[in-house]
Amino acid sequence: MGQFEKGTLYVISAPSGAGKTSLVAEMLKRDPVLGLSISHTTRPARPGEQDGVNYHFVSRDAFEAMIAQNDFLEYADVFGNYYGTSQRWVEQALARGEDVILEIDWQGAAQVRRLMPECVGIFILPPSPEELRRRLTGRGTDADDVVERRLREAAEECSHAQEFDYLVVNDQFEVALKELLAVVAAQRVRTAVQQQRHATLLSRLASS
Ligand code: GDP
Ligand code: ADP
Ligand code: 5GP
Repeated sequence: MGQFEKGTLYVISAPSGAGKTSLVAEMLKRDPVLGLSISHTTRPARPGEQDGVNYHFVSRDAFEAMIAQNDFLEYADVFGNYYGTSQRWVEQALARGEDVILEIDWQGAAQVRRLMPECVGIFILPPSPEELRRRLTGRGTDADDVVERRLREAAEECSHAQEFDYLVVNDQFEVALKELLAVVAAQRVRTAVQQQRHATLLSRLASS
């Protein structure tokens, strides 16, 4: 994107275990113009998770101090922990013309939609409740009670699916990935975007 064009903000939500983190990681590998906002959270790091890579892991006190300082574009209590998006990082990345992905829950998505109605919302669905349970259990990162809580809250998360612009079913991973990349590709050729990017071309063609 050129110097004067703002990037597009993508808000991606899904019930825990639907595959959103794996899909977004693959999108980032295949599309160098996409950037991921790294959330702050008070949840403990899972084995293998790194501070500053998967999340900024902070204490409740530190998180609450950030709330008081208006550091968050949005934040929410999800499964008993705080999760929030850094306002400054997102605004600066968009201003540089980068496309930014937020992987956040439905409550955060609703806040972002109110503040930035031009954002593009994508909801990822698992192919069935049974498969969601298999994936959450199979991931092997959470204790049984944590898995049960996430499954109980999956219905609530999914009940907000129709608030999003796009619904992608993550049955076959490669198919879902292609659909997500197609959404991004389509946003980039919207007339409103192309009019800015190709202003010179359009005026030359119109006056020739
Ligand atoms: P996973 O998505 O199952 O791997 O679980 P996580 O612990 O990574 O995320 C827990 C929940 O918090 C999910 O619903 C996320 O979408 C949500 N979440 C993550 N980051 C943010 C954030 O910055 N803001 C908000 N509002 N929710 C977030
Ligand atoms: P989320 O970030 O939505 O909680 P993850 O990306 O951690 O989900 O995926 C949950 C588990 O499901 C992981 O073990 C992942 O490897 C697996 N998974 C993701 N997509 C698929 C798919 N299409 N088919 C089978 N397993 C999948
Ligand atoms: P996990 O604990 O499995 O990493 O994430 C659980 C849920 O928290 C996911 O559904 C994820 O989308 C959500 N989440 C992660 N970061 C944020 C955030 O910054 N804001 C909000 N609202 N939700 C988040």
